[in-house]
Amino acid sequence: MARIFSGIQPTGIAHLGNYLGAIQNWVALQEGNEGIYCLVDLHAITVWQDPHALRAQTRTNAALLMACGIDPSRSILFHQSAVHAHARLAWIFNCVARFGWLNRMTQFKDKAGKDREAVSTGLFVYPNLMAADILAYHATEVPVGDDQSQHLELANDIAQKFNHDYETEFFPVIHPRIIGGTARIMSLRDGAKKMSKSDTSDQSRINLTDDNDTIAQKIRRAKTDPADLPDHPEKLEGRPEARNLVGIFAALADITQAEVLRLHGNQGFGHLKEQLTALVVEKLTPIREETNRLAADPTHIDTILQQGAARAAAIANPIVAEAERLVGMLPAA
Ligand code: ATP
Ligand code: MG
Repeated sequence: MARIFSGIQPTGIAHLGNYLGAIQNWVALQEGNEGIYCLVDLHAITVWQDPHALRAQTRTNAALLMACGIDPSRSILFHQSAVHAHARLAWIFNCVARFGWLNRMTQFKDKAGKDREAVSTGLFVYPNLMAADILAYHATEVPVGDDQSQHLELANDIAQKFNHDYETEFFPVIHPRIIGGTARIMSLRDGAKKMSKSDTSDQSRINLTDDNDTIAQKIRRAKTDPADLPDHPEKLEGRPEARNLVGIFAALADITQAEVLRLHGNQGFGHLKEQLTALVVEKLTPIREETNRLAADPTHIDTILQQGAARAAAIANPIVAEAERLVGMLPAA
């Protein structure tokens, strides 16, 4: 039995990319493992969030995760800020990680854009907090989308440097669980950008709570190119929007891209888009309905998250206390 850790930022509402790249793997990995799943609100505020929206989105995403199949009686589901061990260990990692390492992180470059002077220092040290999230539990398996692979390598570098600097083997090696074809779902408006909660265009993504008309409209308007769909996946090279739609179709229908193109190749995008809409609607309707049912009782969601936080703290507190001892701090109590 392995200990799994993963998180999602309540910066918006989880979308189809989060579902296919991360959440569906979290659900599958609950079986036979110890799952720890976190709404990472400390990460979310590295970019300013409206406080009311942040609270609402934390609850909605918690409801969504449960609607997708995260079972809070089996896995631990909680919000990051409720377990102070994350921030305590992140501070130590701020002092272990090197400036130059963080300076190479592509997510920071993407999110900071041109005006680096104006972004929060939290955005820069985001990967140190992410390393702390995982290592505070000695978790070894981390199911994420491939946009997070660089951060996981950094987390291993931090763990190794800590172990080296303090002459210990305290922190384990982390194994990324990045699953093939669904590890990077692209924006519906731009095949070169990943689908993101923080994209300013709502048309770029399918939120897991979108209603059926919105789903149909977003897929109808999804960017394509003028050529017909090819008859073979190799011919999707250089056609990122076509590749993305075929990839989403294959993932949802649980068939290969070659099979998708056997069904829809040598014709325009109309038929593929129509069938894709039906697949997305079929997948998301029960998730949306269950989310709405759960979201009607916010007090119940808060209770679940608080109970999850207590279970999480019981694991993380002794681990982080030991890290503090190794560094040379006196016991807290
Ligand atoms: P934000 O824009 O606020 O960073 P996000 O959409 O990138 O939001 P995160 O909360 O940062 O979502 O990531 C949650 C999980 O979803 C991570 O494991 C991440 O790797 C995965 N993920 C995010 N976007 C995609 C995507 N487009 N395709 C596949 N997986 C994704
Ligand atoms: Mg992200």
